Amino acid sequence: MVVAAAVAAEAVAAVTDLHAYRDEVADCTRCALAAGRTQVVFGSGDPAADLMFVGEAPGFHEDKQGVPFVGAAGKLLDQLLAGIGLARADVYVANVLKCRPPGNRDPMPEEIEACEAHLWRQIELIQPRVVATLGNFATKLLSGRPTGITRVHGQEQETTLGGRRVLLYPLYHPAAALYTPRMLDVLKSDFARLPELMGREVEPPAEPVWLTAVTAEPAVQLGLF
Ligand code: URA
Repeated sequence: MVVAAAVAAEAVAAVTDLHAYRDEVADCTRCALAAGRTQVVFGSGDPAADLMFVGEAPGFHEDKQGVPFVGAAGKLLDQLLAGIGLARADVYVANVLKCRPPGNRDPMPEEIEACEAHLWRQIELIQPRVVATLGNFATKLLSGRPTGITRVHGQEQETTLGGRRVLLYPLYHPAAALYTPRMLDVLKSDFARLPELMGREVEPPAEPVWLTAVTAEPAVQLGLF
């Protein structure tokens, strides 16, 4: 009873904090994209979701509606979610960039750098168990590695994001899969593993090995004299 009440109170606090942060970010001018946007597309879904998706950047429709993945790629995302028994309201969806790049061009390094703190804070507040990256930009940013999505899709890895141990799970971007049937098949089969990954316990990081090795080793006379 007491534990359930504490969990409920924590969930309410997380929602309040996430909404407060969304309101703060609504006026963001950290990069030049602020000048051309209709609005900041912060993210949407369950503020305490176990599964969070991170895409690239808002497109035309997202910029107008203020919600991520509402265009054709978003429809595919909805279908993929339905295939594993989930709806948008069960997950959280955000992007690397919160504002639309003109003409839907690729995000620029300085835009990613300016915006990434918003994503880290979202992850910190939502506390997902699994973070599924959609496409190259999100995968490279969240893995901290330059390896492209073609090589790493479907390969989960434990990592720390927003101060929390999570399973990072790279997926092809739905917009790319829309026009490439082979990629869509791969995306569907990678997606099918999500329920299993959401049930997986993520281990805390192992003790640094050198600490035990150093204390266990006998002192050695260096023979300098
Ligand atoms: N593509 C993305 O990466 N994000 C969106 O919100 C829409 C399309």
